[in-house]
Amino acid sequence: MSGTVGAGARILVSACLMGHAVRYDGRAKPLRHPALERWQAEGRLVTICPEMSAGMPVPRAPAEIAGGASGADVLAGRARVFEATGGDITDGFRQAAENALALARATGCTHALLIDGSPSCGSRRIYDGAFSGRQQDGEGVAAALLRRNGIRVFADHEIDALAAEIDNG
Ligand code: SF4
Repeated sequence: MSGTVGAGARILVSACLMGHAVRYDGRAKPLRHPALERWQAEGRLVTICPEMSAGMPVPRAPAEIAGGASGADVLAGRARVFEATGGDITDGFRQAAENALALARATGCTHALLIDGSPSCGSRRIYDGAFSGRQQDGEGVAAALLRRNGIRVFADHEIDALAAEIDNG
């Protein structure tokens, strides 16, 4: 999935944030914000669901990074991603992150706005890996790879800071 891009900073955006029903539970998590509507009208947004891009179905089993680890640990081979049903889906999550980075590079995205809490898109908080419902500080696999490669990643609740940076910068 990708949008047309125009002049100005281009922003990679989580598809579920743009209203696409691509989450593990078959739902979207749309964000309504004037800056997002304006960027969309300006053709600056590039939309992707990293997990769907790696072939994961909708709906799908919820997944978490095991052992309280973070996305950087998965990229380094120190941690794995498991479905709640027990399946090891680490390779899919690594591919999802690679797809997000490839699209960001191909479309010239300098920034990303991603849904927090996800084992792919989370950039400030993720679940603790025990399917306990508890979150902890950390980032998902895609967010970690984007950051490592110089993309400025913001969580959905940081959209005002993103707007301040790209509209004034
Ligand atoms: Fe949304 Fe990202 Fe999860 Fe896809 S991988 S459903 S875009 S949070």
